[in-house]
Amino acid sequence: MGKEKDQEMNDNSFDPYFEKRFRLMERLKDELNLSEKVYKAMLKVPRHLFVPFNYRDDAYADTPLPIGKDQTISAPHMVAIMCELLDLEEGQKVLEVGTGRGYHAAVVAEIVGEKGKVVTVERIPELAEKAREILEALGYKNVMVVVGDGSKGFEEEAPYDRIFVTASAPDVPKPLIQQLKAGGKMVLPVGNFMQNLVVVEKDEKGEVKRRTWGAVRFVPLMGEYGF
Ligand code: SAH
Repeated sequence: MGKEKDQEMNDNSFDPYFEKRFRLMERLKDELNLSEKVYKAMLKVPRHLFVPFNYRDDAYADTPLPIGKDQTISAPHMVAIMCELLDLEEGQKVLEVGTGRGYHAAVVAEIVGEKGKVVTVERIPELAEKAREILEALGYKNVMVVVGDGSKGFEEEAPYDRIFVTASAPDVPKPLIQQLKAGGKMVLPVGNFMQNLVVVEKDEKGEVKRRTWGAVRFVPLMGEYGF
């Protein structure tokens, strides 16, 4: 066992899933060439506590898992890729649309830190409530869970440095573009049967450019600017 790993094991000796999480993250780090900050955040967040109890043992396989209400928690590689594309920095204010049980929000909260803030909107009250419960139990004070139609964004806390959506929209929702700061970035899946992950960048003059990263598979975004 290497020195570095030895240290990590000591820090996480209370967590019986650490070894599994460590192995998954070592693999993703190599496969996706992960930045140190995304790697560290995902190594820290206990994904097994964000999935229903009977799926805990599967939490460190690189797959989506059911979280109830016909919704899924995204696969770890997808969370990692979206975090990298977002180019997250400490202190940023980030909007997530589609909280689920709050796993992705927790990873982003680790990266933006205590000076940053994650505002996350979920339309299904039971999921939002569960997410709040888990995030609170884990001590995340920089995440705000809101129940509502996130396809309209969340005007009250706008503008945001970064926005990401974890459900696929028919097109980039206009309110989300409006709520993005100049110099900001947004990452979201767009499409119905054929979905693509799209990166939207707003420059300092407020001009918007979009590019396509590649094909993905997400649950549909519902609501006013959804399906
Ligand atoms: N971010 C989650 C993924 C959740 S799946 C993770 O960490 O794994 C996508 C979520 O988007 C579902 O919970 C679904 O209920 C939610 N959703 C769909 N349409 C929405 C809308 N218009 N506003 C807010 N949430 C929405």
